Formats: sequence, structure tokens, C-alpha cells
Amino acid sequence: MIVLILNAGSSSLKYQVYNMTNESVLAKGLVERIGMDSSIVTHKSTGFEEVREVSEILDHVTAVRRVIDMLTNREYGVLKNINEIQAVGHRVVHGGEVFKESVLVTDAVKLEIRKLFDLAPLHNPAHMMGIVAVDSNLPNVPQVVVFDTAFHQTMDNVAYLYPIPTVLYRRHKVRRYGFHGTSHAYVSVHAAEHLQKPLEDLKMITCHIGNGASCTAIVGGKSVDTSMGMTPLEGLMMGTRSGDIDPAIVPYVMNKEELTMNEVNSMLNKHSGMLAISGNSSDMREITEAMQEGDKNAQLAFDMYVYRLVKYIGSYAAAMNGLDVLVFTAGVGENSAVVRKAVCEAITFFGIELDEQANAVRSGDIREISTANSKVKVLVVPTNEELLIARDTFRIVNELK
Ligand code: ADP
Repeated sequence: MIVLILNAGSSSLKYQVYNMTNESVLAKGLVERIGMDSSIVTHKSTGFEEVREVSEILDHVTAVRRVIDMLTNREYGVLKNINEIQAVGHRVVHGGEVFKESVLVTDAVKLEIRKLFDLAPLHNPAHMMGIVAVDSNLPNVPQVVVFDTAFHQTMDNVAYLYPIPTVLYRRHKVRRYGFHGTSHAYVSVHAAEHLQKPLEDLKMITCHIGNGASCTAIVGGKSVDTSMGMTPLEGLMMGTRSGDIDPAIVPYVMNKEELTMNEVNSMLNKHSGMLAISGNSSDMREITEAMQEGDKNAQLAFDMYVYRLVKYIGSYAAAMNGLDVLVFTAGVGENSAVVRKAVCEAITFFGIELDEQANAVRSGDIREISTANSKVKVLVVPTNEELLIARDTFRIVNELK
């Protein structure tokens, strides 16, 4: 089965095409600047050179049509014709409390996703444009939606409620949802497989640390707590997001600096985190380089980043009353040996023993970086959210037959 995976943003569309017979990627690409006069499509068919096209793409319907054109192009296309696409899977950020797993798109599902626009105003409306664009270009192809929040729906109310008036939960669904769910789910399954241990028997903490960052406590394969909250702002210090701060800072700063709600929101999401502390970069590579050259602000940003991650790991180990496996994934987790080393050296009292040589190896493969004696196994697991979306899409569409 050929499956098209879409991640629709408000002005962008990321795509990948999988052949599910062997889970191989046939092509992938990105449409940028949708709605502007010079939209850019960057397309790569496996085994061919990358193709880049600039044209006017005013909406998502046209964007999906362009993607199909690229996929069926006579020269570098990977499909003979459009009918080869048998299913489409979409990444959807917010599934609220309704969606506890991936589902087939129906009219009722679309209605529910629309009802969630309020909770993810930047994301869900864009995902819906992607779904509608597929409706119009591939009207008979089944579509599946895979939610970033769904994996965390197993959290207990002890973990997901905030200690604020419960009327806010009842009226406005103010609670912890958590994000990066597909990634946490994917790496936890692969970590257990790699260790050849049943997932059901393991207490795990998965650290998805990229530009956005979250960590999740997983018991027996189920998310029991996660650091992102009602929005992806809570939790760890990130590239440009603050993570946890005293909520009273918000009204205080709004008053002192005469900031509007939008301004303070933008400050916490776009101008905080490592960028704010280092003074010039949100990128862990640049921070690490500057730190090694003696930049004190970069050093502070790095130390705070690690310290805050360590605190979460400690609190989740306590919440689970144990820890068997610690997993690092995403841009920083997969590539930064320096961050992994600093984190592991800060929590040796758990019985973590880092294998420094294994940690220093650069590789795109899943690997263990703790010593044979380490009480807690430490793994680097490359994440692959698209593959998980493709697998869910394949499974759900197969069940229709
Ligand atoms: P996103 O959340 O946008 O998907 P990624 O998972 O791609 O982000 O992670 C991006 C982060 O990964 C950046 O901070 C980048 O500096 C970091 N990163 C990528 N490669 C390396 C590396 N070799 N060493 C340290 N950090 C890296």
C-alpha cells in the first residue's frame, strides 16, 4: 500500500510517501509560502536529485495538487498515476479529550477537530485545510488523523488537572494534554524492542529534545505524565520557549512593561528559553560551540537547560517510583553527546553509568549508551513521527477492507 503523509501548517505543507510493503520512503518534500506569490516546493524522490520550484500556490488545495504533480512527474515521479495513493495520513496537533487514538476521517471527526480550534488556534485550522485539500484532490481516498496529544490521554487526573478552580476544566477544558505523543510512543516501543524486554514491564522516561522539548514518564507503555501542558509552552526550557515559570510573572511583567496579552505570549514562546539566556542563539549546536569558546552566557544557557531537564527526570523517577530506561531523542537528544553526558553525570545516584565511548559515537541508529553495569539503561533512539503516522494510517485503512 502506498501512503501519503501530510503535515499541514498555515503556510506550509510537509509530505512523505511510504511504500508500506517494506516501510520505505519513496519521496518527501515541503511546500512553503502557501498563499504568497512565490511559493517554493522542494521535492526529493528517493534515488533522484532534489527538485526546487518557485510558483504561485495560493491555497492548500493547489499545494496538494502540486505535490501530486511532483509524485507523478514523468522524469522523477515515484508513482505512475494518482490512483496509486491508497491512503493519506495527517499529523494533527490537538485531539483534545475526544481523540485517544488515531482515527479514520469522517464528517463527525472533522466536526470534532473543528471544535478543537480554540485549543490549538495556530495548528488545527491548518491541519483541517490539509484534510479538505485531500478531499478535493483525492476524493475517494481514505484519510486518517494521528494526534500529538493522543498518547498522553492515558494520564490520570492526578497528573492532568491543574490545581486551579475546576470550573475552568469543566467549562473550558483547561488541563494538561501534552504533545510530541507520536514521538514518545514511537521511541518507547523501539527502546523496549532494542532491549528485548516487554514494554509492559518497563518504567521509562523519554526525552524528546529538539527546538521544542518535552519529557514523558511511561509505565508499561502508557504515558503517565508529560512535561508539556495545556499548550506546548510548559515544562522544559526550550530553544525559544521558557518552559516552567512562576505564572505570577505574567501579570507582573504585563503591568511593569505595559505589555499586551499577545506580546507576553510572544515573549514566552519566541524570545525566551536558550535564546534569551544565551543572548544570541536558540540552536544547541551554536550554544555548545560558543560555550566551548568561553562564552559565559552560552554556558549559563546550557547549564540551565541541563539542570531543568535533570529536575524533570528526577521528578518523574519519583512519580513512577523507579526508572528502568532513559531515552534521548530528537535534534538535541540524538545528536548532542555533550548534553547527554551532562544529564547522565548529574544523576549518577540513580545508578546510571554512561559509556563515554558509546555516547561519543555519531550514528543515526538506535543505540545503548550506558555501561553493562548501569542500573538504568540509557538509549539514543532516533525518532520517526512520519513512520508512526504511516503505520497507523496503514493499519486503520487495512481494517476497512
Ligand atoms: P524540531 O523541534 O524543530 O523538530 P529538531 O528535533 O530538528 O527540532 O531539533 C533541532 C535542535 O537540534 C536544534 O537546537 C539543533 O541545534 C539541535 N541539533 C541538531 N544537530 C545537533 C548537533 N549535532 N549537536 C547539537 N545539537 C544539534
